Amino acid sequence: MTTNALIDPFGRKIDYLRISVTDRCDFRCTYCMDEDVTFLPKERILSLEEIVRVAKTFIKMGTKHIRITGGEPLVRKNILWALEEIANTDGLEELTLTTNGSQLYKMAPDLLNAGVSRINISLDTLKADRFFSLTRKDKFQQVIDGIEAASQLPFKRLKINSVMLKNHNDDELYDLAKFSLDRNMDISFIEEMPLGVITDHDRAETYLSSDDVIEQLSQHYQLSLSDMKTGGPTRYYHVAGANNKIGVISPHSHNFCDTCNRVRLTVEGRLLLCLGNEHSKDLKSVIRNTTQDSGALESAIMEALALKPQQHHFDLAEAPQILRFMSATGG
Ligand code: SAM
Ligand code: SF4
Repeated sequence: MTTNALIDPFGRKIDYLRISVTDRCDFRCTYCMDEDVTFLPKERILSLEEIVRVAKTFIKMGTKHIRITGGEPLVRKNILWALEEIANTDGLEELTLTTNGSQLYKMAPDLLNAGVSRINISLDTLKADRFFSLTRKDKFQQVIDGIEAASQLPFKRLKINSVMLKNHNDDELYDLAKFSLDRNMDISFIEEMPLGVITDHDRAETYLSSDDVIEQLSQHYQLSLSDMKTGGPTRYYHVAGANNKIGVISPHSHNFCDTCNRVRLTVEGRLLLCLGNEHSKDLKSVIRNTTQDSGALESAIMEALALKPQQHHFDLAEAPQILRFMSATGG
């Protein structure tokens, strides 16, 4: 198999794989899952060895960037082993991680040593009581301690991710931005996506657009749109006088679909071709039926790529049309 083989039917080069390593989490963020969520039984999820096999196959086929996410990836037992295996595979340029930050106070040095170069840390508020309402867990200080611990280490980049909900935390836009920029971290504000059925709130009522975010922040900062291309839904803005950037993630916009460079491996081993569509291929059965045959997995990945749709169709008014939860799909 040649490298850079992963080109989809619309000519897009797919060199970015996101892997959800667990659907479990120590938080219960109201926009992500209900409090009494049922997690998948162990036999239905990929083992770490299976995940590493898929990752190595993708790297062999030209994947340059792998992001590990979940659920909360750092609550998966032996995750450091898998991170190190993936990071040390020839051909990979970047191993990155998305975490809720709860384990960073003790794991940050191990992550750096394992080969993780960049970390996105989710933080939606700087108020402890509000943190409890949003995550349903009393771990605000633990997360802040984790962010401080990580920011002392030479990671290539740290970024805060904040999901903004109207009338829940949108009064903290500036405070969250200042918190991040003061610590030499970027920040991205995320629009809520209609993934999974939740009962806490009506997503159409809490929806805050990225345009509103930028308008509010422009009252505090001089922002200029960066031409940085991410291949995803993030648009970055330079902040006059600061080294770091402010991003907005607008999944509702179709503008980024034509440069989409990514696919996702779900916790159950489905290769998901688009976050907003159900097009997918079951790689778990291929892996489990062909333990020694690497060619079978490569062929299955090529077949899957042919299914990648041109664009997604999120629509809050008709939500939830995507029943998967973000935690299972590697949001
Ligand atoms: N547990 C880790 C964390 O929270 O960073 C990794 C997984 S989490 C699913 C990845 C990102 O998705 C987080 O930044 C989270 O805030 C975001 N997220 C979860 N549900 C979402 C939703 N319905 N809409 C938009 N973002 C969501
Ligand atoms: Fe857990 Fe992340 Fe979902 Fe929050 S957003 S419940 S931390 S998986």
